Amino acid sequence: MAKKSASLSKLPNARDLLAWYDRHRRRLPWRALPGRYSDPYAVWLSEIMLQQTTVTAVKPYYETFLKRWPTVEDLARAPIAEVMTAWAGLGYYARARNLYKCAGVVVADHGGQFPDTEEALRALPGIGPYTAAAIAAIAFGRHAVVVDGNVERVMARLFAVTDPLPHSKTTLRELAAKLTPLERAGDYAQGVMDLGATVCTPKSPACVICPWSAVCEGRKQGIAETLPRKAKKVKTPLRYGVAFWMMRADGCVALQRRPPKGLLGGMTEVPGSAWRAKAWSAAEAALAAPVKAKWRELPGLVMHTFTHFRLEVTVYAADLTAAQAKKLGPDIIWTPLKHVGQAGLPSVMAKMAALALKNVI
Ligand code: SF4
Repeated sequence: MAKKSASLSKLPNARDLLAWYDRHRRRLPWRALPGRYSDPYAVWLSEIMLQQTTVTAVKPYYETFLKRWPTVEDLARAPIAEVMTAWAGLGYYARARNLYKCAGVVVADHGGQFPDTEEALRALPGIGPYTAAAIAAIAFGRHAVVVDGNVERVMARLFAVTDPLPHSKTTLRELAAKLTPLERAGDYAQGVMDLGATVCTPKSPACVICPWSAVCEGRKQGIAETLPRKAKKVKTPLRYGVAFWMMRADGCVALQRRPPKGLLGGMTEVPGSAWRAKAWSAAEAALAAPVKAKWRELPGLVMHTFTHFRLEVTVYAADLTAAQAKKLGPDIIWTPLKHVGQAGLPSVMAKMAALALKNVI
């Protein structure tokens, strides 16, 4: 009997992780104390913001949103342009559009209360399997299996899974499911995420302070740091674009809002060409310009990396006459130069504005 319990104690268990979480968890503004449930609105808002984004980058945005729109009803009532502007700089703007849509659905169809099951949460705009599981576990204490990149890394190391990602995803999920406890599933999920973020980090995991150190196969085999293995990435393609920095005599620059759908949908932009696989010649750029003018190419290029492609943008500038400015039409947002920083430009557009401001003033 004694022999059996000794061998059982060699398996990773949730209890050790929860004890570690109670003492060493990250103190984050959207979290409740251990053993308590967090506010679903706070969990949802933070989880959407945290997708592909670091905790450090999210904190000030989360605090601004919560202060400005303390409830889901407040957010649903806000004009979308204000929400998009408040999101500017956080990236992945489809998240902000879906956040807004989701707030509307929660208010209209659920009386302002987030549903408490994974299935119902997944039916809401912008909530995928991971986010639904996280909200269900953290805000409602449901026995949901929460798997993000941190959890995958910890599972791969803990069980020495050498099959590369993404092929190993199903195995890692099954292992995560086996370890998820019936009680305190939300704290457990946050515990594994914290362990991945602070101890079992991608480089140089701090195994000596890990609560699973004694049972970690990856550590025992000396391969922890090489896990999870990843299949070779296909090189992200490069696209080219041209942006037009148009100044009026009164010191205002032409900005506009992008169409509501698609990449950076609804965000403010510096007017520009389509982004394509072939570089733009100066003659093509002149033809693509919104108005005929004396264009000059600014020195330097704007480089930006999106999830699926890299972008290289050449910026052209021109001082417009009143007649040329009028031709641009009513949708242009004429913005005084000193207010460009508050115009809610997403990062790639802010880079174009920075390059122009450096060269034309
Ligand atoms: Fe990660 Fe090391 Fe802990 Fe294993 S022992 S889970 S590799 S930190």
